[in-house]
Amino acid sequence: MTRSCSALGCTARDNGRSRERGISFHQFPVDAAQRREWIRAVNRVDPQSRQAWRPGPGAILCSRHFAEADFERYGLRRKLRRGAVPSRFPHTVRAGNHPTPDC
Ligand SMILES: [Zn+2]
Repeated sequence: MTRSCSALGCTARDNGRSRERGISFHQFPVDAAQRREWIRAVNRVDPQSRQAWRPGPGAILCSRHFAEADFERYGLRRKLRRGAVPSRFPHTVRAGNHPTPDC
């Protein structure tokens, strides 16, 4: 099964094509405090329960939701910095903020 990014409105899928385009995928942190930060940043509500959305065991976010400074580079590869929190959610609708059609 191909996993896709958990961010609202984001269509990135964890497949070879995305990786060729330089998108990397990152699992939600195991650390409880950091995990909460990510959940807060994703800002999703479960449509059924109307409670804050909780990431499942395989939930991932793509690199488009992180700032360049959140990554450490190892030659051609890159790794998310310890403690990095996603900050870019162009599709999340907030007051006075319309979602952009192009992520
Ligand atoms: Zn994404």
